Parts: sequence; structure tokens; C-alpha cells
Amino acid sequence: MKKNKIAAFALAIFLGANVPAYALPVEDTAAVGKVTAPADSGFDYLLLVNKANKLPDDYEARVDLVTVKNVFGKEFQVERETYKHFMDLREDLQKDGIQIELESAYRSVARQKELTEELRVTEGEDYVKYYVAVPGYSEHHTGMALDVAVVENGKTTDDVYGEAETSYQKMHRRLAAHGFILRYPPGKAAVTGYAYESWHCRYVGQDTAQKIYRQNLTLEEYLSDKAAMSGQGPRASAEYWLNRPNTDRRHAALIREAFGRLGQICDNNEFAGENGSMQFIAELGKRVGVKLPTKPEKLKNTKATIALSGLNRSEKLACLQNVALGSLLFTNDHAMIYLGTDEAGTPYVIHASDTRWFPMEGDGSEGENTAPLKYYTRRVVAEDLFFFDTPTEQAIDSLVSIGLWQ
Ligand SMILES: [Zn+2]
Repeated sequence: MKKNKIAAFALAIFLGANVPAYALPVEDTAAVGKVTAPADSGFDYLLLVNKANKLPDDYEARVDLVTVKNVFGKEFQVERETYKHFMDLREDLQKDGIQIELESAYRSVARQKELTEELRVTEGEDYVKYYVAVPGYSEHHTGMALDVAVVENGKTTDDVYGEAETSYQKMHRRLAAHGFILRYPPGKAAVTGYAYESWHCRYVGQDTAQKIYRQNLTLEEYLSDKAAMSGQGPRASAEYWLNRPNTDRRHAALIREAFGRLGQICDNNEFAGENGSMQFIAELGKRVGVKLPTKPEKLKNTKATIALSGLNRSEKLACLQNVALGSLLFTNDHAMIYLGTDEAGTPYVIHASDTRWFPMEGDGSEGENTAPLKYYTRRVVAEDLFFFDTPTEQAIDSLVSIGLWQ
């Protein structure tokens, strides 16, 4: 079975090279151990760690881990809230005759480095390259990711589509009620970077877990939607920007048209190049009766632009103070609609922005270690002048011109 083989591979990474076969008597005990770090009230239960998003450097010093044992006596460290809710989930499933146990939980970046070295020796470079998470990029570093084994007839089992799958599916349906999500669901490898893992659960809190479950999303998609809406807050509406004092409202129709598409996916294919952001603006222009060239370089060369190249950061910011809401902002490869500045003087834009996913090796199936592919999703996003992971100041530096509508 192809899938089972992959599952076994993946499991080997979680547990180290030797996968122990549990066949011990099943007891119903699991005690919370000592606190190893102080509680942090501002803790981010939505932290995204994947092949493109590294664990923050200060995270391990902040996470509140508890040391626990599963019924087999194996010791784990788990983030405190995560463990509490895992135990609730476990108790809930027990009522249906399903026994789940921890199989893997927190793993430090240092341990992942050791593991990588061990596997490089025992399994070889190719194995490490394709099957071992790069230290710093494993969700297990968060303490909120759990590999859960189903115990049947005194043995743990976790093959994807294997004999425990029915029990796993029952568990999947109960996860959200306890604040967990199935982190790598089937059919989402292009988004998560991982093939289906029936055992890998992630704590995100009950509200978020229920939204993700009901809408059939991944954490990546949920966070991208959330960012696209820039909060359900006031800045995510056209009226916020149009009703500010001394606002030039001549492009109000365009701004309303753009906000009408906030969060909308424009394109879900591979990267379509710089024309994507300009195409979005040209379409809006058409709707409000203004024709624009769809190639940014053509527009950038018309008379209706203010050149910004050669200006320093504060000169560029000063130029922005004097242009109308709805004007266009260009970098060398991107076009945006200017929304004005907020109270702190930060420029805001609405644009069709590319969310860059990450290179991945095939779809996770055996033998599909092809050349890395990149996946992109283009959505309409309202945000401050902060794009492509560039700090705001550098984003301002990258502006080359302002486009003015007639
Ligand atoms: Zn896992």
C-alpha cells in the first residue's frame, strides 16, 4: 500500500528512526507534570509554522510546556492549554469506545537538528531532504501539534487509510469541539505542504477550530482569509477611508468597487506575473468608466504619473500626502490603489496581492520528488504598505511612481 508506506516514513520522522511497536497493557492514567515555563497571557494560538514560516527565535523561551506521560509511560512535553484540551478530547472519545494516546508532541529545534543528523547517517541524504522537516520549520516545535495514535487491541496504529481509519474519522469529527484541527487534511497538500496525516492535530482554540472545520479550510487558508479582511474592523470598509476629514472623494466609486471585492480570490493558479495586480485595477477602472492600459510599464510611462525614483523615503511619503485617495501606486512589479494614511501616517492600499506558498516536492506521494513547484493565491487585500514580507519602510522605498486617473 503506497499510502501506508508514506505514513510509515512520516511516522519514522516523528519518532526517530526506530518506530516502537506498542503492545503494553492499556491503563487509563496520564498525569500532568510540572510547569517548565511561566504562563504567557499574550500567547498566540494561531502561530503558523510550516515549510515557509519559521518558528520565531524567542518562541521556545516563551512557550508554557507541561511534561506528561501517555499510558505506556512514554514522556512528552506539550503546551499547557493544548494538553488540557487533548485530555478532554480523549475522555470524550472514550465514551465512544475509542482510545487515543499521544505519540509525539513538542520537539525542540535542537532535537530536530540532532534527529536530522542521525537520519542523515542511518538513512542517507535523500531521505533527509525529502522526509525530514528542516529544523525551525516543524509545527512540532510549537508544542501545539500532536501526533495522536489510536489504540486498538492494546496496540497503537496510525496508518493512513489503514485499519484505524474509522476511529480516526470519528476523532476528526470531535476535534473542533475541543479546539483542535486536522492539520494536514486530504486534498490540501498544495496548501499545507504535507500529504494527508490522519494523526497530526493542532490546537488553535475552539472558535477558530470550528470555523476551520465548518468551512473545510486549512490553517494557511484561514489565516490568509483573516489577513485579507484586515480584521472585520473599520479599516476594512470603503466608508472608513472616504469619510476621513479633508478626503478627496473624486475616486469614491472606484474605492467602493475595490472594497466590494475585498477577500475575493482573483486567481488560484500558478504565478501569473506582474500583470495580475494591474489587471485587477484595470477591471475596476472599466466598471467605473475609466480605461487603463493593462501593462504597468505602459501606464507608468504616461503623462499621468508622478515619478518617485530618486526620492528618499521622507520625500516619497510627502508626495503621498498630496495625492487623491484612489490614485495608483507602482513598484517595479506591482500596482496598488492608494487609500490614504491612517492616524499614525502609515499609507494604506487595497490591491490584488499574491500570497506566496512554498516550494514543495510533488504532492507527497511516493516517487513524486519532482522539481519544486510554487503555488500562489491572489486575493484582494486591504493593508498597510507592507507586502511580500517587506517591512513598511522598505515597501515605501520600492515605490517608483504614482499613477493619477484623469
Ligand atoms: Zn506530526
